[in-house]
Amino acid sequence: FDMFILAFVERIFRPTFRKDDFVLGKKLGEGAFGVVYRVSLAKNPSDKKEGDLVLKKATEYGAVEIWMNERVRRACANSCADFVYGFLENSSKKGDGEYWLVWKFEGEATLADLMQSKEFPYNVERMILGEEQQLPKGLERENRIIQTIMRQLLFALDSLHSTGIVHRDIKPQNIIFSEGSRTFKIIDLGAAADLRVGINYIPKEFLLDPRYAAPEQYIMSTQTPSAPSAPVATALSPVLWQMNLPDRFDIYSAGLIFLQMAFPALRTDSGLIQFNRQLKRCDYDLVAWRKSVEPRASSDLRKGFELLNLDEGIGWELLTSMVRYKARQRTSAKAALAHPYFNREGLLALSLVQ
Ligand code: ADP
Ligand code: MG
Repeated sequence: FDMFILAFVERIFRPTFRKDDFVLGKKLGEGAFGVVYRVSLAKNPSDKKEGDLVLKKATEYGAVEIWMNERVRRACANSCADFVYGFLENSSKKGDGEYWLVWKFEGEATLADLMQSKEFPYNVERMILGEEQQLPKGLERENRIIQTIMRQLLFALDSLHSTGIVHRDIKPQNIIFSEGSRTFKIIDLGAAADLRVGINYIPKEFLLDPRYAAPEQYIMSTQTPSAPSAPVATALSPVLWQMNLPDRFDIYSAGLIFLQMAFPALRTDSGLIQFNRQLKRCDYDLVAWRKSVEPRASSDLRKGFELLNLDEGIGWELLTSMVRYKARQRTSAKAALAHPYFNREGLLALSLVQ
């Protein structure tokens, strides 16, 4: 009950905004369902040219995205970008209006931007530590950086999943580096599903990005064809969650990101698409894929296998527990975080020692 009072009080004292409060800056992104801008508040025509907020003008799915962000802000704030406010803007004459969503501007770079750089993963190391390390460059050090990124990603996923939310669009473009906390955070809850209350329960599979989507088309099995009404869903969904393991959809996507970080050749769109085709031909068996490509592997591919082979192949072991055809055979975010791959010192541990 206290939680309700808290939420209510918080609601009253939180600032509210409307259309005219914002000055639009640079366009950051444009998808099929909305446009994203960097913005500032009109009432502080700040000395800095660029705003410290981000605005998404969204179409029909904006309502779900606002709902998800509100829930995340209360239940697992640090795993996603800081949500400020969301509202229906229908002062203009066009149709049903748009949903406006406002976040804190977290930083300039997504994981996709950082992975495109030749310097990856050392550019990430610099952003996390704020300085260049003195250790020689090499596989060990790269592995330590990638391990740190994977730990941060899995940590954010674990808190989303523990809240009952499946993201369904995990990809490097939707992982932002927060300059304030020096950690990666998840963004873009537009395709997310909250299974505890049945919001966006029926997956809109056309929203899913085929490059990162797990092979299962629907997140819930076909035995649960329609969304029960909210109270029923609340009572049933922990059971459904156990039965169907919808969170493992995100784990597959996170596994592909792990793979892309280890293998530079798979960081391009065409490289990833080709990999997906090869994996499908191997019936989604990563070990079979490795057998088929390793004998004639380029030096770039060999380097990826070498990195994953460090410490008796512990990285490879984790990767193969994430990228599996059957959802129920994939590890959970929580179990992955307990995997021995993460026993080694990561970057933050190292910086504390120094
Ligand atoms: P879309 O539906 O277009 O994919 P996103 O929510 O993923 O919308 O945002 C698009 C882009 O805007 C992101 O890839 C990122 O570059 C940028 N962006 C979104 N939210 C933030 C934020 N809180 N801070 C900084 N940049 C952001
Ligand atoms: Mg996005």
